[in-house]
Amino acid sequence: MLSQSISYPRYEYENKFRGYIKLTKQWDVVIIGGGLAGLVSANFLAKSNLSVLVLEKGKTVGGRAKTDRISDQLFNIGPHALYKKGKAKLILEQVGIKIHGKSPKLDGILVDKETHYRAPFNLVGVFTTRYFNMKDRFHWLKALLTILKMKSDSLSQLTFSQWVEQITPSKAVQSVLLLLARLSTYCNAPDQVSAKIVVSQLKSVMSGVLYLDGGWQSMIDQLHNKAVLLGSEIRSHQTVKQIIPSKQDNAFEIILANGESISTKNILSTISPLELLGLLGEHAPTAMKGIFSKFTPVKGATFDVALTQLPDPTKLFALDLNDPLYYSVHSTYARLSNDPKNIILHVFKYLQPDEQVDAKVVKLELEQFLEKVQPGWKRYEITSRFIPHITVNERLPLPEDETRLNSSKSAIPGLYLAGDWASPDSILSEAAVTSAKQAALEIIQKEKS
Ligand SMILES: Cc1cc2nc3c(=O)[nH]c(=O)nc-3n(C[C@H](O)[C@H](O)[C@H](O)COP(=O)(O)OP(=O)(O)OC[C@H]3O[C@@H](n4cnc5c(N)ncnc54)[C@H](O)[C@@H]3O)c2cc1C
Repeated sequence: MLSQSISYPRYEYENKFRGYIKLTKQWDVVIIGGGLAGLVSANFLAKSNLSVLVLEKGKTVGGRAKTDRISDQLFNIGPHALYKKGKAKLILEQVGIKIHGKSPKLDGILVDKETHYRAPFNLVGVFTTRYFNMKDRFHWLKALLTILKMKSDSLSQLTFSQWVEQITPSKAVQSVLLLLARLSTYCNAPDQVSAKIVVSQLKSVMSGVLYLDGGWQSMIDQLHNKAVLLGSEIRSHQTVKQIIPSKQDNAFEIILANGESISTKNILSTISPLELLGLLGEHAPTAMKGIFSKFTPVKGATFDVALTQLPDPTKLFALDLNDPLYYSVHSTYARLSNDPKNIILHVFKYLQPDEQVDAKVVKLELEQFLEKVQPGWKRYEITSRFIPHITVNERLPLPEDETRLNSSKSAIPGLYLAGDWASPDSILSEAAVTSAKQAALEIIQKEKS
């Protein structure tokens, strides 16, 4: 039954080398990158009977959505939460992915130096937090209602800071909105980031998120296995070094680091815009170069920690009011260890665009923040992992990006773009998954016609 849905690459005879006949496979689609975007698009494409090859430079697929097993504890690459009502979850379910996990409670603390305030993230918090006075509580409820009712499309020209100043005069409310914006987008640049993207992410977060059993690897494993069963070929340890568009037959030659050459009718690239420019080299159109080289990645530092117990089990979530710091216990809601008593938590610093990082200083900062929330945590440490400078999203979303992205779309016929940077109206996994589906559908439509 399966074989009906499997298609094989076309074979063409080429007389490139004098005296030799070279047998060349021509793929319908080569996907560069086996992360979330690459695997989602492989599922859509392979279902349509197209021959699909995924090339991934890593030892295994998954990209930034991988989960590492360290001393038998499961660590996502930093804190990962899937939006419960987001488009990504819908699309993943559409390709048959089963998503298991629970939503963290909308509760927690705001840390101001040595003082802890209850966060105003649920009704009890709104009316009891000492961080707000009576007027602030009123302004906070008004701001939340504004976000819920807001049509984010109308904000495409504003930065988040501009919008925040428009909607509330309360400084305390403004500061909590900035915290929430960082939490939901990972961007620490309120004066630059697009209000439209932040508000739409805020709405998603307010509808709830899920921490996943087995980590995000549970989605990656299912996506990988389904793509293979549908007939895609997935090769890891394969670094693409060069893309050469052919003018004669609207096809591409892909050169790998090991010297192998691969021929394909279409390419779906899920790598970063700058890396793509590098692979295209002189073949990159000037307009594309101009646009892609302006994108700045969103970065962060993550401290992923496993403990045998929490010194203070009541503290599961915290944000710092002065520094861009996050703390959350994920294992209360998701199975991340064989021993259900073990604790898996993440401490995270949101970096500014182009911020230089001194790894030792940042690690100490994250450890000290954890000490403020969970004094004495070190006594219970099973293992931990610190990553000082990781790309969370390949593009800091700016108000002008929508036009830029739309104009760079069809710069090279047959080259399609996906990834967390490639969607004009979303970021993170929402963008990776929606752009992957969109690019796959465009290729299917082209090939069918
Ligand atoms: C710390 C952290 C926290 C995050 N938290 C959240 C969250 O809470 N919610 C959320 O929605 N998202 C979150 N994200 C973002 C989410 O993980 C990413 O948006 C998503 O995984 C990106 O998928 P992708 O396929 O676009 O990119 P990637 O995962 O980067 O995949 C691209 C793949 O291409 C491969 N590649 C690159 N160059 C080449 C080459 N030359 N040849 C072959 N292969 C190549 C790479 O190895 C990689 O596997 C977080 C990310 C991080 C790092």
